[in-house]
Amino acid sequence: MKYRKGSAARPQVPPPPRPEAGARIDLHLHSLHSDGALSPAELVARAREAGVSILSLTDHDSVRGVPEAREACRHEGLTFIPGVELGVGIGDDEVHILGYGLDTKGRPLQNALDQLAGERIDRMEKMLAALGRLGVTITLEDVQAETGGHIVGRLHLASALVRLGHVANHGEAFQRWIGAGRPAYVRRQLLTLREAIDLILEAGGVAVVAHPGLTRRDELIEYLVRLGIRGLEVYHPKHDFVDVSRYLKLCAKFDLFATGGSDFHGVGKLDKPPGSAATPADQYAKLLKYIKI
Ligand code: AMP
Ligand code: ZN
Ligand code: FE
Ligand code: FE
Repeated sequence: MKYRKGSAARPQVPPPPRPEAGARIDLHLHSLHSDGALSPAELVARAREAGVSILSLTDHDSVRGVPEAREACRHEGLTFIPGVELGVGIGDDEVHILGYGLDTKGRPLQNALDQLAGERIDRMEKMLAALGRLGVTITLEDVQAETGGHIVGRLHLASALVRLGHVANHGEAFQRWIGAGRPAYVRRQLLTLREAIDLILEAGGVAVVAHPGLTRRDELIEYLVRLGIRGLEVYHPKHDFVDVSRYLKLCAKFDLFATGGSDFHGVGKLDKPPGSAATPADQYAKLLKYIKI
């Protein structure tokens, strides 16, 4: 074995397991079961075209796309990891927790997700009422027409507002009405950190902090680790080099693995394609130690 010039001879250690050398591993993708545009099978096909060979479907508050995505991956020869993305309320901020390798058929998980879906409908009705008071007429059916699943969110609302001609694009919808703090914004019912992490762990999954650079609540990471978090999503289209180096340092400090994914939705101009951010193979191998797939 060759070493770089100047490096002392090192003891022979086995190389880190590399399940599929050169694999592109995208562990953050959305389908129409939450606020993505594509069906799970279409999403898998798109990911494969983009060179992704290992992927996770991480819909918001839903695992209903998992069977179709698993089957499509089997068909296309890709490795599939079941996943979910849960929103947590921290003061006025929202932190997202990713769960991987869950048993998606368990009753406690399904009951909790059904409850979150119902609360999203109640919240959407409040946002539509607020829009009505602002003179914008739009119904729950208009919003539900934008989703292929049972989850309704602000991205669907923005799409419906564009379709009905109330705004020119998604950005305008968030800017004028439905972004946090705007007049038709209503916060949805969110889980606590402990609830979100426990749901994932009790379903046999491993919990990871999604895009920590977006909320920047780094002071929480030590507490999150105590609650059972085992990884940080270091590689994300909205993380810059400074974010990546900061979160790699925090991974080293707390002995966490570093994941990555594109957070592809297939909606809006700013969306980045599958594979545009990815998980390094050695970090994926660390994640695999926590789950059965
Ligand atoms: P919800 O879970 O219903 O609160 O919707 C959150 C989703 O809305 C996020 O996942 C984003 O896709 C989208 N979103 C939130 N804020 C903005 C924004 N300012 N511009 C565009 N999309 C946004
Ligand atoms: Zn989303
Ligand atoms: Fe997120
Ligand atoms: Fe996401």
